[in-house]
Amino acid sequence: MASNLVSINDIERAHDAIAAKVVRTPTVQSAYLTQQLGVPVWLKLEHRQTTGSFKLRGATNALSQLSEAEKRRGVVAASTGNHGRALAYAARLEGMRAVICMSRLVPQNKVDEIRRLGAEIHIVGKSQDDAQEEVERLVLQDGLAMVPPFDNAHVIAGQGTLGLEMAEDVPNIHTVFVPLSGGGLASGVACAIKSKQPNAKVIGVSMQNGAAMHASLKAGRPVLVEESASLADSLGGGIGLDNRFTFAMARDLLDDVILLTEPEIAAGMRHAYQHEREVIEGAAAVGIGALLSGKVRADGPIIVILSGRNVDMNQHKSVICADQSSGRAEQCHA
Ligand SMILES: *Cc1c(COP(=O)(O)O)cnc(C)c1O
Repeated sequence: MASNLVSINDIERAHDAIAAKVVRTPTVQSAYLTQQLGVPVWLKLEHRQTTGSFKLRGATNALSQLSEAEKRRGVVAASTGNHGRALAYAARLEGMRAVICMSRLVPQNKVDEIRRLGAEIHIVGKSQDDAQEEVERLVLQDGLAMVPPFDNAHVIAGQGTLGLEMAEDVPNIHTVFVPLSGGGLASGVACAIKSKQPNAKVIGVSMQNGAAMHASLKAGRPVLVEESASLADSLGGGIGLDNRFTFAMARDLLDDVILLTEPEIAAGMRHAYQHEREVIEGAAAVGIGALLSGKVRADGPIIVILSGRNVDMNQHKSVICADQSSGRAEQCHA
């Protein structure tokens, strides 16, 4: 049983450790989705978290667990996205050194953003694997502590604090929709929600192209999948063939996994913008996309996690403007 990997006690301890350093984001009812689905639908507005995603919770909790000696040496990770941002920010807050390793193929704007948050950037090689080798080199050479994006007990416990807050905010939850990639968020949230409200269901949502956790759950073990471009770029990447925590927790705690097409993800982003007045990235839009797609039926109350907002604003604009069905695309040229 997965319950001995990360427990509700770990998540409650994480909550105390990070409470002063992260935003307690609101859970608000969506009038539009509630009316459309005929059951109460709530949105957990975690895209409003500092650094623009929930990753700050896990990174902050992982740093809180380091020894004084480890804190003096610093931390390292290979991440071009939300985990890199979160770790850079959390380390600076503690006055710690953070090194983020990336390949030469990473766009300059992403590099600049993470440097602006205070991290040292090491650009090495031409792939994520090359960047990961540099991480391992720095662990050996400088004694830096590696903070992985999802497959780590302290990271999972940190992400689980989001589940504690939702269980506090909404009684009798029927179903929670969670964006799913490596599964740190889904594992932590499912553990917290099911400990507090044992009847609640938790459904993971990924994109159809390159959903590593879904393929692994089907195969019964961690497997590799081919990566492809997606609007939900924060959901890309594998779960690691040597996965220690999140595969077992997702297998034991998730009630279902749903896969969305690119147009379904785009519809989620558009809905968030037009009807909820929220700018969210593709990865964060999969829960709304799943509800709008009609691929799932759920009783209420439903909670949908909006997990991040770090989207290139030109890409966001083109998704909003590509709404041909409304026949109002020309508005965007104004
Ligand atoms: C990382 C991330 C996810 C997926 O989280 P996992 O713990 O890898 O499953 C979802 N949404 C956003 C915005 C993210 O940054």
